[in-house]
Amino acid sequence: MKNELTQQFNSRIDAVAYCRTPYKQKFGIPRQPGLVNIKGLVELAPHVNNIDAVRGIEQYSHLWLLFCFHENLEQGWKNTVRPPRLGGNEKLGVFATRSTFRPNGIGQSVVKLHRVIQQNGKVCLEISGMDLLDGTPVIDIKPYIPFSDSIDNAAGGIAQEAPELIDVQFSPLAKTQIESYANESNSLELLSVISDVLAQDPRPAYKKAKADPKIYQVALYDIDIFWQIENGHINVIEIKPTSVC
Ligand code: SAM
Repeated sequence: MKNELTQQFNSRIDAVAYCRTPYKQKFGIPRQPGLVNIKGLVELAPHVNNIDAVRGIEQYSHLWLLFCFHENLEQGWKNTVRPPRLGGNEKLGVFATRSTFRPNGIGQSVVKLHRVIQQNGKVCLEISGMDLLDGTPVIDIKPYIPFSDSIDNAAGGIAQEAPELIDVQFSPLAKTQIESYANESNSLELLSVISDVLAQDPRPAYKKAKADPKIYQVALYDIDIFWQIENGHINVIEIKPTSVC
């Protein structure tokens, strides 16, 4: 047996799936799963693209997705991070946070499973509630098991409570644009999804303490949403076809 524990693990990990989501850029994605009821797909990668690989999965209402923060890998990591919740003022150890800048760049999220579908020769899981960028590589998928995974009275550290929501309103222009972008029932759904995403207030905490005249942009589906803080609420100014590829 080797004495050097550090030399024992040297395994290659490949993506088993890729996540397809409406979130086209990191800014605006909820900071944890389950906060916004928005649908996405987990598409199995070619080497596991077999319906047998997900046989029985529909008996679970929720799944764990282990994934790679692929957009942040190049930026590396540090021993300490400044969690956005603390306004960027305080440092915590990387392993004491859910920072996206980690030694192995691995994240995990519980998502709701709706159904298994097969489309264009691909086995896909329809999910919702994910906090993942479109194209995120998934390195494992596991059923969520309530008796073990849900812990009553667990201490949540700096994230004991879900973030506070901010009120979201739409300008007449934005409403008209959303109505002409989607048909009647879809436009109501789109209004509600945009509202739920922005209600998370994606701005860093330090921006929330003072006047903030900046116009922000969030890319969702194939639209860019422009918004601003106005009298303590978010005002959606307008939407445009997306500029984010
Ligand atoms: N629930 C996961 C966890 O705890 O490991 C992720 C939490 S992390 C704070 C959530 C943020 O990760 C999102 O708000 C988004 O900005 C970012 N993110 C999502 N997918 C990403 C990706 N593929 N690469 C880099 N950052 C990503």
